[in-house]
Formats: sequence, structure tokens, C-alpha cells
Amino acid sequence: MLTHNKQCRMCGSQKLTMFLDLGDQPPANRNVKPGEWLKNPEPMYPLKTYFCRDCGLAQLLDVVPKEELFRHYPFISSGVGNTPKHFQEYAQEIQKDFLKPGELVVEVGGNDGVLLSELKGVKTLNVEPALNIAPLAEKRGVPTIAEFFSGKLAKAIVKKYGKAAVVLGNNSIPHIDNQIDVMKGFKALLKGDGVGVIQAHYLGYIFDTLGYGDIYHEHLSYYALRPLVRFYKKFGLEIFDYQMLPFQGVSIRIYFGHAGKHKVQPKVAALAKEELDKGWGSIGAYRSLARAVSQSRDKLVAILTKLKKQGKHIAAYGAAAKGVPILNYAGITDKLVDFCVDGLPDKQGLCMPQSHIPIISPEEARTRPVDYYLLLAWNFREHIAEKESAFVSRGGKFIMPIGEIEIF
Ligand SMILES: [Zn+2]
Repeated sequence: MLTHNKQCRMCGSQKLTMFLDLGDQPPANRNVKPGEWLKNPEPMYPLKTYFCRDCGLAQLLDVVPKEELFRHYPFISSGVGNTPKHFQEYAQEIQKDFLKPGELVVEVGGNDGVLLSELKGVKTLNVEPALNIAPLAEKRGVPTIAEFFSGKLAKAIVKKYGKAAVVLGNNSIPHIDNQIDVMKGFKALLKGDGVGVIQAHYLGYIFDTLGYGDIYHEHLSYYALRPLVRFYKKFGLEIFDYQMLPFQGVSIRIYFGHAGKHKVQPKVAALAKEELDKGWGSIGAYRSLARAVSQSRDKLVAILTKLKKQGKHIAAYGAAAKGVPILNYAGITDKLVDFCVDGLPDKQGLCMPQSHIPIISPEEARTRPVDYYLLLAWNFREHIAEKESAFVSRGGKFIMPIGEIEIF
């Protein structure tokens, strides 16, 4: 059952203001068999984004049960675009900067072990609740606990394996509702001079590109650095460095440890100040964002409707989760978009949630008439344009679903 939080998940404040309402939607990764919705109506949950007027955290307060979202997870890290290469380089960096031979590394939500399997000469432990993915990590030689991370589990890990030199969380920590329990877990798990490294989508990407497709039920918190610095401090932890990375749009990677154990880089305070200067500490910036998002949505619908009236064939490219909130917020269905192309065989033959746009393979798509592709996996823009060079050379065009709705 859906729960609705009445407090900010980081600071406990009740001064929460809703700024962007994307409507009731099914979970973004919940693709359905054709016609299944006639027998079993899709579960619909509010997708409303709130701003905490005390600590500044942007967040969802309506929480879909974690069992429903994460016990079976369709996103296998090592199978997606440039992800393996990204994690290979990431692992080398962690190994060089923070690890000595034989030490323990724990990853929260380590998926199929794409990162941990790259580390050499250390002990690894993956905490991955997806029952379809945990065995894949084991197969790669990464010991995996198929459970949700919690303070209690962290203590059990310490008892059995000892404390960790490095704790990792990649696109997993903002998915957890009980952030206080997560902090207690990190505090218990990290050895004295240990380092935590958390990577997540950066809020600035949504502001800069209007990429509101990243807002869906799995993503409960939207990370800016400023609210996090304050939150970690409360638990005797300290963020001492960060990096911005061009991964899944823009990601922030933060580094933390026990307070006073690492030299805090001046850039941490500088970014927190920059965020404040941009107005992210007050509701006005979020209200402007919501207005811009709704204008962008209206423009998208107007363009697609006009093209359809002209008799053009419109399809979508990439059945990515991030495309789902956009389609559903805009009310775009299979009446406007004929089908969606996706290279993953597991998705082919299914339909996208709520919009019921059928998902087909790139091979099948090449046999169908298409004039315009709505680019739902816009973060792989260059890669897709290259792959579909035949489509481009016979005059086919792509439409960006966010921002100014560029056609190219
Ligand atoms: Zn707060």
C-alpha cells in the first residue's frame, strides 16, 4: 500500500510545499503485456514533487512499497549503453584512492556487480534486493545479500565481515525512504578512516534541461549538495569532496567519512553556496521550474498533434523509464505514437505503462513507416542517431521530448 510521509525524510520538518504535480501514474518500469490492463488495472500512484522549506530537499512524499518496485528490477547495469565502461573507470579510481589489499567494500544496490567485480584483491559484498539480479552478481563472483539495506543489516554485516573501508551507493541511496536509517547504517559500517561514495542524479540537471523524466516513483530524493551536507553532519558524518559526472544526464558523486577524518575540500562549501545563490533554497525557483515544465509539455503535445494531423508517422525511441513520466504527464498514448523501439529483448512485445505504446525491436521498426522519432532515451542521443543513420539519411527526424522540444 502507498504511504504518504508528512515529514521531510531528511530533516523531519513539516514545512513542505508541493511544486510539481505529474498526475497519478503507474511505476515507470512497469511495462505491461498487451491488453493486460483490461483484466488487471494498472496501479496508479500520485507523482507529486515537494520542496522542504527548512532543509531544501526536493522529494516525493508518496512512497510506493519498495517490494513492489525493487524485488524484481528490469534494469541490469552491465547491459546498458556506456554503463560498464563508466563503472570500470569508477572502480579503478576507488581502488587507487581508498583501498588496501584485503579490505572490505560494501555496495548498496550493486545491481549485477558491474562495479564490484572490477575490484581486485579486496573483499566485496553487494546488498541487492532484486531477486532476479542478485544471482547474476553471484555468478560474476560477487557475494550478494538479496535484501534491502538498513541500519540493522549494516550491524549484521559488521558482525559477520567486519567494518568496511569503502561503502558505495550508485543510483540507489535516493531510492530509500528511511534516510535516517541509512545514515545509521553507514555510521555503523564504515571503519575509522573509511570512505563512503554515493552517486546519484543531480538536481541541477532537471533545472538546466527541464529533464523531468528523472522524476518517478523510484527516485524519492533529488540531490543537491547543500541539504546533504547538513544532513550527514547530524550523524557525525562529513561530506569532504564531490565530483560532477556526465552520467545519466548529470550525476553528482559525493565522498564522505566520519567527521574530522578527512580534509574537507573548499569546493564543497563553494557548491553549496552556488546552489543557494541559484535560489534552490527557496520555493520560488521550484515554482518557476514547474511552470517551465508545464510549458515544455504543452509545446510537445502541440508539435506531435500537428504532425499527426499532417499525416506523419510518429514513433518513440527507447522504452526508458525516464520517458514514461513525460508521456503520461502529457497524455501521449498509442493514438499519437505508433510504437516504441527498444533494443532490450525483455521489453519487446510489452507495452509502456499507462500510454500502452507497444515496444518493438529495432529490426521490426525498420520495416514500418516512421517520419519522426520521439527520443525518449535522449541521454543516448548521438549513439541512437548513429545507429539509425539510414533513417536519418532518408530524411527522418528526431524530436527531443524535454526543454525547448528541439527537432533535428
Ligand atoms: Zn527537510
